[in-house]
Amino acid sequence: MKILSFKNGFFDLLFRSNKTIMEPQTWPRDLDYEEKNVGYDWQYPKGGIKCKNFELCGVVLPKDWWLYKARYLCTACHDQFGTWSGTNIMTGEKIIKTGKGVLEFKDNIECPICLEENVRGVNQPNCEHIICLKCFKRCYYGDEMKESCPKFPYPELINEYYDDQENPKWKTDYSLIEKYNKDLDEWDDKKLRKFQNEENLRNCSLCRK
Ligand SMILES: [Zn+2]
Ligand SMILES: [Zn+2]
Ligand SMILES: [Zn+2]
Repeated sequence: MKILSFKNGFFDLLFRSNKTIMEPQTWPRDLDYEEKNVGYDWQYPKGGIKCKNFELCGVVLPKDWWLYKARYLCTACHDQFGTWSGTNIMTGEKIIKTGKGVLEFKDNIECPICLEENVRGVNQPNCEHIICLKCFKRCYYGDEMKESCPKFPYPELINEYYDDQENPKWKTDYSLIEKYNKDLDEWDDKKLRKFQNEENLRNCSLCRK
């Protein structure tokens, strides 16, 4: 399991999509986009492709992502902002999402929520209203949670660990990993509960869509 699937696994837990995620290519590959949007992170130090909402989610996608989801959205953006239908596996309730998927950014707006002026904004996934990035992130990501995410205790070994988690040496030689995994589980649960409790925040505060 790589960090990417862990990060997005949080949303997979909430929503089990009927289709779309691994559906073969339904959109044409966009080489121009790929060329202009190379992104780097620890998973893709030689370069991957930025999610179209990179400014919000910060996710770098693998180079072959177009095979699976050629709109260049990461799983979390697709789940939260995109168009799909599925079942909430916690409640069994049917979910139909009709969001835009790719969000638009705009400079110099006045945010209708915090009333700050001349800030960078983003349009809501289900309507045309624009709010500032800060307010958007607070609603969708509960930003303050990110800060409290447990840090892997051996940063220089993080790649090696996620590539081969079953290796017994992690249990015997690296005593802090067990606690890290426990903390991570707890943090994930807390995040999930917070996310569910704040469902109402993820409707536009102006039109409730
Ligand atoms: Zn994304
Ligand atoms: Zn705001
Ligand atoms: Zn609205």
